[in-house]
Amino acid sequence: MSATPGPRLARSLAAPAPGWTSEADAIVVGSGIAGLTAALELRTHVPRVLLVTKGRLLSGSTVWAQGGIAAALDPSDSPEAHLADTLAAGGGLSDPEAVQVLVTEGPQRVRELVARGAVFDKAADGDIALTREGGHRADRIAHAGGDATGAEISRALVAQIEAVRHDPGIEVVENALVLDVLTTLDGSSSRDSAAVSGLAGGSPLASGRACGVTLHVRGAGSRDGVGAVLAPAVVLATGGIGQVFRSSTNPAGATGDGIAAALRAGAVLGDLEFVQFHPTVLWLGSGAKGQLPLISEAVRGEGALLLDVDGHRFMPAVHEMAELAPRDVVAHAIVRQMAATGADNVLLDARHLGREFLRTRFPTINARLLEAGIDWSEEPVPVAPAQHYYSGGVVTDLDGRSSVDGLYAVGEVACTGVHGANRLASNSLLEGIVFASRAARDVAARFDAGELKPGEPAERPGGSALVAAAARSRIQKVTSAGSGVIRSARSLAEVDERLGAVRADAHLAAEVVAEPQAAEWETTNVHHVARALTCAAWLREETRGGHYRTDFPKPDDAWKRRIKVWLDDAGVLTAE
Ligand SMILES: Cc1cc2nc3c(=O)[nH]c(=O)nc-3n(C[C@H](O)[C@H](O)[C@H](O)COP(=O)(O)OP(=O)(O)OC[C@H]3O[C@@H](n4cnc5c(N)ncnc54)[C@H](O)[C@@H]3O)c2cc1C
Repeated sequence: MSATPGPRLARSLAAPAPGWTSEADAIVVGSGIAGLTAALELRTHVPRVLLVTKGRLLSGSTVWAQGGIAAALDPSDSPEAHLADTLAAGGGLSDPEAVQVLVTEGPQRVRELVARGAVFDKAADGDIALTREGGHRADRIAHAGGDATGAEISRALVAQIEAVRHDPGIEVVENALVLDVLTTLDGSSSRDSAAVSGLAGGSPLASGRACGVTLHVRGAGSRDGVGAVLAPAVVLATGGIGQVFRSSTNPAGATGDGIAAALRAGAVLGDLEFVQFHPTVLWLGSGAKGQLPLISEAVRGEGALLLDVDGHRFMPAVHEMAELAPRDVVAHAIVRQMAATGADNVLLDARHLGREFLRTRFPTINARLLEAGIDWSEEPVPVAPAQHYYSGGVVTDLDGRSSVDGLYAVGEVACTGVHGANRLASNSLLEGIVFASRAARDVAARFDAGELKPGEPAERPGGSALVAAAARSRIQKVTSAGSGVIRSARSLAEVDERLGAVRADAHLAAEVVAEPQAAEWETTNVHHVARALTCAAWLREETRGGHYRTDFPKPDDAWKRRIKVWLDDAGVLTAE
């Protein structure tokens, strides 16, 4: 199949020239589960590790994760059973090798989390208590603080980082927004790497090696403002893309920065059309936007039922696992049921579970609902699907290597192949620790072998971009309407056209009010991700996993393959 050329995008963000420069051996970008794990592992193996994060250390989606982390920890369960469930959720597009790694290394990584201080909820026999979530056919979800799993994992990992923060081997810089990945001229962005194998052609991919990052630091003395850090290994752990959509469960910082920066650096992206919309997000009225409260899948795992606004239970007729069917199945069924009843939401009925159980098993959700004036032991909860997780991202091999030498991606920013067309619940925290550990070990081994060497950053052709922050809500609205839960060639073409009309040269346009600063850089990233996502969704003429096309409502075996997207040296967005 030949490559499909799309719009032209700039190959860097518009920003002032770096006012300061420093060096490291490995840079980790992001302090969610993936970034913290990578930094902790690298610290003992590489002399100078720099961990940067755009807000505080305790940040990212990890802090918000409720339900838990999946791993075959019970003797009655097995990695093979976990593998089978993961492959089933992935709609035929998961990479079995990547899933094998996930499920076999997962239990050990969870035990290491315990050794690092994470306290999981215990069963009566003293072992880790395990529950079940949608798509899992065994109890294998470890949770903490009832429904505060991510907060507990973050707490434990951040405590470990704080304990070594003043060691000479690691430097932690908060309030540091990475703008772009620096690349050399000497290109070894390997066409033969797992990430790019099979590309038919049309991509020069002459991007060179990764050799550092540009970043904007707020309030760090001599390193205030835009600077550059040079390093032969850059590990992106920047999380998801929730802010590309109007409503999402992701925090405000989920602007797809790592995916956009990797794209601009010449890396190959994959599975971009597969966005997971969580079926049960608290519905707060049609005007609600930004981060919305999630009602965890574990609530359905404990027996809560989905009803339409007429009180009719609809999931048993849709799937044999009813409310516990894979997320895409539940989300699409809800959207169809909403259309059938003419309502903006459906209802999640947990009344029969009882006030005391709901309060102790789901303390966080209970509190959020009470804040919203809902007593869920007395009334069903209004819910609707919202963006939740990105299965796509920077294509990597099993060691987190992207197609650009020296550039790694771990956690939600990566496309390891584990999730395929749809993520199985609670597999993302696990993917974060498993692949961050592997990437850190790979960086360390290559560093020891002298394979990772410093390089000279080169200016990339293709110009720079800046989108005014004021354009963000329009981008979100347009993308949600046409590239959201339900898509068609027509809706996607309209999104493409309307995103193409957004000015991406705000820094050059005297009449546009925009400064190169955080809100603008993030909005430019949101724009770049929305364009790449829409391009992949337009190309995939079928329905599979998280990608639902009304004009192609069935899966088509001809599409049982990953769509890859990249920018060529002229900045043309290309997909095949
Ligand atoms: C409400 C909610 C509930 C969830 N529940 C579960 C669950 O129960 N189980 C499960 O497995 N998964 C769950 N998920 C998904 C899971 O939390 C995420 O996929 C996972 O935490 C991602 O981890 P990460 O380390 O890749 O990224 P994140 O935790 O999102 O961290 C990203 C980090 O990168 C930083 N960053 C981003 N851009 C830049 C930049 N330009 N420069 C510097 N730093 C940057 C951020 O500040 C942040 O520190 C949930 C997600 C949400 C939102």
